[in-house]
Amino acid sequence: MKTTLLKGVKLFSISFSIFLMACGNDSASKTETMDSTSTSTVVDSTVTYDISLVDNKKDPTCGMPVTAGITDTAHYEGKVIGFCATGCKEEFLKDPKASIAAAEMK
Ligand SMILES: [Zn+2]
Repeated sequence: MKTTLLKGVKLFSISFSIFLMACGNDSASKTETMDSTSTSTVVDSTVTYDISLVDNKKDPTCGMPVTAGITDTAHYEGKVIGFCATGCKEEFLKDPKASIAAAEMK
C-alpha cells in the first residue's frame, strides 16, 4: 500500500519534471539554473529499483550487494539482473556468460 503510493508519487514527479522541461520555454532562464542541481538529485533518487524486483544478490560486475542500491537492470535468460550503475550493466552485457555466476542468483 505504502510502496504503491510512493511509486505513484515518484511517477508523478517524473512526468511532472518532463512536463516542466517540455513547456519550460517561456519560464525565466534563472528558474532553469536553479533547477539544474535539484533536478539531478531528483533523477538520482527516483531511478532506484526495489531489490525484490531483481533476481540477483550481487552486481555481477563489481560484486556490490544489490541491497546497496540498484540504478539499472538488465534481462538475462528470463531473469532480471540489478546493477549499481549503468556502467556495470554495460560491462556485464559485453560478456554475460562470464559474469553471471558472480551475480549470485536468488
Ligand atoms: Zn556495480
